[in-house]
Amino acid sequence: MPDPLAPDADLEQIAAWLREARHVTVLTGAGISTESGIPDFRGPQGVWTKNPAAEKTATLQYYVADPEIRRQAWQNRLNSEMWSAEPNDAHRALVDLEQRDALHGLVTQNVDGLHLAAGQSPEVIVEIHGNVREAKCIACGWRGPMQETLDRVRAGEDDPACLHCGGILKSATISFGENLVPEDLDRSQLMAGRADVFLAIGTSLGVYPAAGLPEVALRNNARLVILNAEETPFDPLAAAVVRGRLGEVLPAIANLV
Ligand code: NAD
Repeated sequence: MPDPLAPDADLEQIAAWLREARHVTVLTGAGISTESGIPDFRGPQGVWTKNPAAEKTATLQYYVADPEIRRQAWQNRLNSEMWSAEPNDAHRALVDLEQRDALHGLVTQNVDGLHLAAGQSPEVIVEIHGNVREAKCIACGWRGPMQETLDRVRAGEDDPACLHCGGILKSATISFGENLVPEDLDRSQLMAGRADVFLAIGTSLGVYPAAGLPEVALRNNARLVILNAEETPFDPLAAAVVRGRLGEVLPAIANLV
């Protein structure tokens, strides 16, 4: 098993791998957006770490079965930090890497749209868990701008129903218990399989199928580099692990490429 690099020990080595690589694929998780003021789920300040019951609002089975969970979920959406959040230095460093031809695919588990807002090219991004900009009906498949549905919540509808079929509305994100969009999963797996360097950034690598992507990359002999504040189950398989703050670590690496 490779020895992980000591924290922050050799960012130059990582930069050299990125310079030499023909195809670099990145997987990001909630940890890249905490410095933009959006809490992650499982980190020390995570939403679920502080309040385990909150997981139910992100689980389809509970959301469909319980109007009280839906009312809570709509209040969470209304008051979400995501509406005012701005990209941070870590998001911008990934844009730099793309401009330096050292990032070719970016799969994000995040639903906050901050990679796009930072200026990453839409063609390189797969938002594998969807995004919060749209609402969708789980019965008829209608989709529309999230803010229009949030206006209905602000006006007093605490669990707005689909205006077309009366079905249950939710954000157009993938909840637990909900299938991924097959084309998005296919594109992600292609990107992972093509990588000679695979960077896993700000993710606890605990949620499948997204956590299966480093497995695909490793099977195809990619170097796995993990940038995350806490341990992940993939650390023993990584060529390098760096535990610093992403807003510092990623710009430092990008500047060395
Ligand atoms: P996670 O909450 O399981 O893990 C985040 C990891 O990032 C943690 O291990 C934490 O230690 C690390 N981290 C946090 N801030 C960091 C920083 N500044 N520097 C370095 N590391 C840092 O997140 P996940 O694996 O992405 O899974 C959570 C799921 O929840 C995902 O499916 C995602 O869709 C969703 N989610 C999205 C958002 C968002 O869009 N911003 C926010 C919360 C949750």
